[in-house]
Formats: sequence, structure tokens, C-alpha cells
Amino acid sequence: MSEIDGMGTERATCVLAPNPSPMTLDGTNTWVVAEPGAEEAVVIDPGPEDDAHLERVVRTVSAQGRRVALVLLTHGHPDHAEGAGRFAELAARAAGRRGGPVPVRALDPRHRLGDEGLAEGDVVTTGGLELRVMETPGHSDDSLTFWLPADRAVLTGDTVLGYGTTVLEGKLGDYLASLDRLRRFAEDMEAATILPGHGPRLDDPIAALDRYIAHRRERLAQVEAAVAAGARTAREVVERVYADVDRSLWPAAEWSVQAQLDYLKERSAGT
Ligand SMILES: [Zn+2]
Repeated sequence: MSEIDGMGTERATCVLAPNPSPMTLDGTNTWVVAEPGAEEAVVIDPGPEDDAHLERVVRTVSAQGRRVALVLLTHGHPDHAEGAGRFAELAARAAGRRGGPVPVRALDPRHRLGDEGLAEGDVVTTGGLELRVMETPGHSDDSLTFWLPADRAVLTGDTVLGYGTTVLEGKLGDYLASLDRLRRFAEDMEAATILPGHGPRLDDPIAALDRYIAHRRERLAQVEAAVAAGARTAREVVERVYADVDRSLWPAAEWSVQAQLDYLKERSAGT
């Protein structure tokens, strides 16, 4: 835990939420991001609705001599977004802010607080910071990645994790396209680090993305082989392909396999 909590870059600091599980690894990484010398900070993914954690994030920002001016969400899953509304109130109170909670921006309108959305190509400039927004669907349809150019850091949410692999709720075709795009982007921009939604930072972004891409292709080949061998349902594929994986992850694996089966069906229909 200690190597994840407090990690980051010059501008980004991780506050680790106390919600470890097979799905969330060590817990959710809440990111406090601010320009040096700035009074305003941006918080990415406040995390689950856990007051002790949310208050610790507020205290972390206060200890930096800053106030929270904006909350961003990488996606709407509860381990990242559930505490956002409560956090927006706590942060507004700590900042003596009038006019309601701190705004929460997300791709999915259901997770927003305030008028502003968040989408491909947006540039967030709060407190002199520069954060560029990319839509990277696959883990979920509403998944975003943020690029912090000053630190050459990529905040990937659950699109890329610090270790292991992510579960897919969206379409595999979208996810593969997102990984390919991030791979090209990391190379073009000479990205120095990935700051994920769970697990430690990854200081070789291209190697991490190559690993992710290879893993997906390998799993896809395994699913194809399982289907060829007679597996008919997602569950039957999971029993063959994920035999070596903790059973508590099987329901999630079924989602991933379903996404792969859909992808293979679409691909064969398209050719
Ligand atoms: Zn997550």
C-alpha cells in the first residue's frame, strides 16, 4: 500500500482508497493534480463513498495550500464515482465555496454535477493546469483517459491498470482500438509514465501497452480455440480459458468473454 499511496509525479499525487478487492487491486487511486504554485487543484476519481477516504483527499489538498476547484471522472463505476457527490460537498465546505458543490465533470451525464460535460478533445485548464481529454471506451463505454503534458503522464483510469488486466464491460473492438490509440499516443508524445486507476504507476508506458495488447490477442485466440472445441456459452468458455484464474473473478471474466464472442461474431459478419 505504502508504495501506491502518495506516489505520482511533480503535479499528480495518489491518495489510495481503502477498498482493496480482486477487482480493485490495492484499492482505487484518487489523483490530486495541480500546477506548482497554483491555489486550485483538480481531483480525478474521488473513489467510493467512504467519508474517511474523501476527507483524507480534502486534507491532502488543504495540506498543499490548495482548494479543490474541479472533480473529473475517468468513468462512472462506483469504485471511482460513487463518492463524487459527497466529495464535491466536502471540498466545497473546506474551500468556503459559495454557490454549491464543486463541479463534477464526466462523459456520462448521469455522473455530472453542474453544467459542464467532458469529452474527446476537451482541455481542462483549472489553476493553470493542462489536462487533455481522450475517449478510450472498452473497459466501459464512458471511459476517459487524461494526458498531463507537463509531466508526460497518462491517467488511464481502468483502461490500463498497474498490474493484471482490466475487465471489459464495453465492446472489445472499442477496447482494442483504445489500446492501439494509446500505444501510438504514448510513442508520439514520449509519455514517461502511466498513472492508473488501480495499482502502481507504470514508468514504461509502451511496454505496458504492448503487454496489454498482446494479452488481449492471446485471450482472443484462446476464446476462438474454445469455441472451435465446442464451447457454446460465455460460461463454457470461461471454464476452459480462465481455469487458472480465481473463481471470484469468473463472473467478471464472463463479461469479458461475452465481449470477445460479440467481437468475433461481428468480425466474421463483417468479412
Ligand atoms: Zn475501478
